[in-house]
Amino acid sequence: MDEQRHRVVIVGAGFGGLFATKALRRAPVDITLINGTAHHLFQPLLYQVATGILSEGEIAPPIREVLKRQDNVKTLLGTVTRVDPTARKVSVVAPGIAYEVEYDSLIVAAGASQSYFGKNEFAEFAPGMKSIDDALELRGRIFGAFELAELETDPAAIERLLTFVVVGAGPTGVEMAGQIAELAHRHLPGQYHNIDPRQARIILIDALPTVLSTFGDHLSTQALRQLHKLGVEVELQTKVVKVDETGIEVETVDGHKRIESATKMWAAGVAAPPLAKQIAEATGAETDRAGRIKVNPDTTVPGYPEIYAVGDMMALADLPGVAQVAIQGGRHAAGQIRKRLAGEETGQPFKYFDKGSLATISRFSAVASVGKFHFAGLLGWLLWLVVHLLYLVGFKNRVTAVMHWFVSFIGRGRSERVATFQQVYARRALQEYQDKLP
Ligand SMILES: Cc1cc2nc3c(=O)[nH]c(=O)nc-3n(C[C@H](O)[C@H](O)[C@H](O)COP(=O)(O)OP(=O)(O)OC[C@H]3O[C@@H](n4cnc5c(N)ncnc54)[C@H](O)[C@@H]3O)c2cc1C
Repeated sequence: MDEQRHRVVIVGAGFGGLFATKALRRAPVDITLINGTAHHLFQPLLYQVATGILSEGEIAPPIREVLKRQDNVKTLLGTVTRVDPTARKVSVVAPGIAYEVEYDSLIVAAGASQSYFGKNEFAEFAPGMKSIDDALELRGRIFGAFELAELETDPAAIERLLTFVVVGAGPTGVEMAGQIAELAHRHLPGQYHNIDPRQARIILIDALPTVLSTFGDHLSTQALRQLHKLGVEVELQTKVVKVDETGIEVETVDGHKRIESATKMWAAGVAAPPLAKQIAEATGAETDRAGRIKVNPDTTVPGYPEIYAVGDMMALADLPGVAQVAIQGGRHAAGQIRKRLAGEETGQPFKYFDKGSLATISRFSAVASVGKFHFAGLLGWLLWLVVHLLYLVGFKNRVTAVMHWFVSFIGRGRSERVATFQQVYARRALQEYQDKLP
């Protein structure tokens, strides 16, 4: 009878999980990759789905298809709710079914959730951007606001519908604000009879005194200048204190004020997913303020050399929650498993190679920080284009994404403007349904 091979369970098929899986391609292991959705998601381009540039399929290829040539992996749909480090098994739920999977080694890469800093009630009126559902809901809200403004006769209601507020001036918030501004000023004019989309106000809010604060003073100033040029109103040192259906209330250095706005979006913070808390409790691992698991330098969970936590849910040496940390962390964990199976010494620390940071502001304009080099404008944007094409998973997706970029950046079109009522209202309906459950 065949001897059972080493069983690796990987939780999450985002950047960390997918790259760990690929790095174990030739290893003598049987991998079970468990993910809450059937697709891998390229989160950095979610804002382009929300603003009608790309289709959801282009940034979310099916995991099965991505891995179809890798024989040693089985892909399962499901949300891991519990890790039992003593019995070495994970408990999983999928719609209508619950199951368990045993492991010899476990790599957990379950990413991060949106954080509303304890004000979860904001989520209903200011969706975050973490999933395809979020992006499609926002797409519906943004394009729907222009449609409703076209029907309105009350000037105050029109103004409210044409006021878009983005909370959080990190890369996602800046990209989102920039794209709504381009939409209003460049793509939509000429398509409505009663309103001029150019009258739309796009307001970007942050509690900090700068935009893109992690990019340094020079790029931060350049980005602010570009945003102003696009017509985005940037309100810094401004803290959101209330969000409701028709507006948002903020505390600024000058006091309290209310902004009437139908469409708000939240890009202001991240927290570790619920699974991180369960693992920390089960293993006795410490967590940081965001709930991320404090791992050993080799990315293992203290006391459990067979459990690795990587990517956004790992707290190690102040590394940021970015794609490269997850990719390289996933590869490192896979390398450690390969070494252990080959009888080699393990426990080498994870060394992160910082390849730089990028954020687009509008077409042909981005800021990029690579080592000591800083680029802004067209050069930064070209770098952005190359990097995103390199890391977008799937050949077909890359081809169609390039075509859509041509349509939007060279032309004036937005090919992916379909928005359904279901996309906009499903979250609330689901919540009401869940509230009624016994
Ligand atoms: C809107 C947005 C824009 C971004 N832009 C950039 C950028 O420009 N550059 C950059 O470097 N980074 C960017 N990031 C950050 C980057 O996407 C993350 O750092 C990266 O995705 C982290 O990888 P990960 O593998 O840790 O988690 P993720 O890629 O989030 O993957 C986690 C996976 O785990 C699955 N999952 C979660 N919980 C469970 C569970 N309990 N059971 C099973 N599966 C589960 C999820 O479905 C998901 O597939 C952005 C993030 C967002 C949200």
